[in-house]
Amino acid sequence: MAAYEYETHDYDVVVVGAGGAGLRATLGMAEQGLRTACVTKVFPTRSHTVAAQGGVAASLGNMGEDSWQWHMYDTVKGSDWLGDNDTIEYVAREAPRAVYELEHYGVPFSRTEDGKIYQRPFGGHVTEYGEGKPVARACAAADRTGHAMLHTLYGQSLKHNAEFYIEYFALDLIMSDDGACTGIMAWKLDDGTMHRFNAKLVVLATGGAGRAYFSATSAHTCTGDGAGLVARAGLPLQDMEFVQFHPTGIYGVGPLITEGVRGEGGYLTNSEGERFMERYAPTFKDLASRDVVSRCMTMEIREGRGVGPLKDHIDLNLSHLPAEVIYERLPGIAESARIFTGVDVTKEPIPVLPTCHYNMGGVPTNYWGEVLRPTKTDPDAIVPGLMAAGECASASLHGANRLGTNSLLDLVVLGRATSVRAGEVVDRAGAVPNSGAAKADEILGRFDQVRHANGGHPTAEVRLKMQKSMQNNAAVFRTTESLAHGVKEIADIWGSEMNDLNVTDRSLIWNSDLMETLELQNLMANSSAIIEGANARHESRGAHAQEDFPDRDDKNWRKHTLAWIGEGGKTKLTYRPVHVDPLTTQAEGGVDMKKFAPKKRVY
Ligand SMILES: Cc1cc2nc3c(=O)[nH]c(=O)nc-3n(C[C@H](O)[C@H](O)[C@H](O)COP(=O)(O)OP(=O)(O)OC[C@H]3O[C@@H](n4cnc5c(N)ncnc54)[C@H](O)[C@@H]3O)c2cc1C
Repeated sequence: MAAYEYETHDYDVVVVGAGGAGLRATLGMAEQGLRTACVTKVFPTRSHTVAAQGGVAASLGNMGEDSWQWHMYDTVKGSDWLGDNDTIEYVAREAPRAVYELEHYGVPFSRTEDGKIYQRPFGGHVTEYGEGKPVARACAAADRTGHAMLHTLYGQSLKHNAEFYIEYFALDLIMSDDGACTGIMAWKLDDGTMHRFNAKLVVLATGGAGRAYFSATSAHTCTGDGAGLVARAGLPLQDMEFVQFHPTGIYGVGPLITEGVRGEGGYLTNSEGERFMERYAPTFKDLASRDVVSRCMTMEIREGRGVGPLKDHIDLNLSHLPAEVIYERLPGIAESARIFTGVDVTKEPIPVLPTCHYNMGGVPTNYWGEVLRPTKTDPDAIVPGLMAAGECASASLHGANRLGTNSLLDLVVLGRATSVRAGEVVDRAGAVPNSGAAKADEILGRFDQVRHANGGHPTAEVRLKMQKSMQNNAAVFRTTESLAHGVKEIADIWGSEMNDLNVTDRSLIWNSDLMETLELQNLMANSSAIIEGANARHESRGAHAQEDFPDRDDKNWRKHTLAWIGEGGKTKLTYRPVHVDPLTTQAEGGVDMKKFAPKKRVY
């Protein structure tokens, strides 16, 4: 191995990731005077959070009556009774405070006539414990809520003297012999230097793993690195089989085409030009719910009626609409279609595909963000020195299915919670831990091996194979057969191509080939956890719709999956109980849990 020198940095806290979760954690740490570093592979304001449009949920009641109890109920139901009720109560209760805090930090929320924060309705957010009418709960800054939040939180973090290490790629966690996390190793992308960060606490906030699939609405940087780091440290991933899909992402590239297109009269067709949704959903047709439309599209493709040379996508038609209507009501869509596919929507259909949108699963944590390493005797045992927050974590606020606008909320409430807990557990006067040189060398050894990978399979080719397998076998339409096939294909990739990768560029400066190979290793850990967890789960719950087991089975399956990824992708599954108890009892001012008993999830 080439000898690598590295620079050592000592901090109280190192946060990995500068999206909404990472920045809220960083800000909270720095505000308390903890010496905090935020390490990020992309510039903070380019994190995927910037793409969030819809809003952030909180029961402010600015546009009609609302309560945190109703928000809690909707989230429990949305999770299809797989969420942890203590986390859900904590987040629903904290939401209004978190949104007012964002307002005071400077997020330019849209306003009502009388100057209050503007709120819009979103799917699954209703009143009266699911029995009442829809409620406007999503607090929005126009259609740029994530953008506004990210810029505000970055500014606030700088104001509190958090130190940023921008375009540093976290390679692996440094773990002590007794199982605590004591830091990370990172590679500085623009000059090729290596860095060791020793810390009393590491917070992972690395975002989702949308890029495990062929078609994803998330940025190319959403490669599930946090899950990869955790898996390599011998720790489990939780509920990874639950992946949310949106019916109309642009084929091949993924950006979202809003449901508004179908709302305005657009419709889907197969290779025979048939409006197939009429056959599946005679009443609502193209406007049936997201998961139904996604499933029907996938069925058409599987039965050979997809469009294009590979018969692998579906057409979304709107050229029958008057051009004025398109330019007035759907200008953004017309622009996205032109930029990403060269399609003029007034003349041609948009090629679309159900697209991976959000990972409900992730690194298991409690609602303080402390990472769990469940044992037989203690399902809630924690890993000292390690926390996780945001889309990379599973707290579990979203359970088997996330409600729209609950993710931005997750980032700020649970991102902040890490800092509240850090204030209690980080020993400011104590020495920064150092697990010795051998640990760092081990990590750099793996890095060096990847850097000099000289096999027969370019990274891009292997990644595409993995993405296609995940898309075909573990997307919206899952069967016993497709999942078993997927398990085999992903295991085969681990066993062959992953041992025979080819990295063409050996340099250390802006080596995107090398970085993408490291990301592929992380994506593979995510893919294994998703496909293995899905293959084992013999029920349908939330986003996991298994055709051969169409019903939810609370007796056997109301439990969290834990996937432990070993050498060469060998995966072991164990389970841990859902936290059914809320944070507070009814006598302490909490909810009446009788209202929250599991029932069929219908809207
Ligand atoms: C198109 C789109 C629209 C959405 N709209 C909404 C919405 O309206 N409302 C809502 O609630 N949710 C929405 N979501 C979901 C929500 O935006 C995301 O779940 C959330 O923003 C994720 O934030 P995060 O902080 O966890 O991660 P991200 O914002 O993805 O940030 C991840 C960070 O980790 C860093 N990182 C990753 N790996 C490494 C590494 N190896 N080394 C160093 N740094 C690393 C990156 O540099 C980045 O800073 C949307 C998602 C998408 C894709």
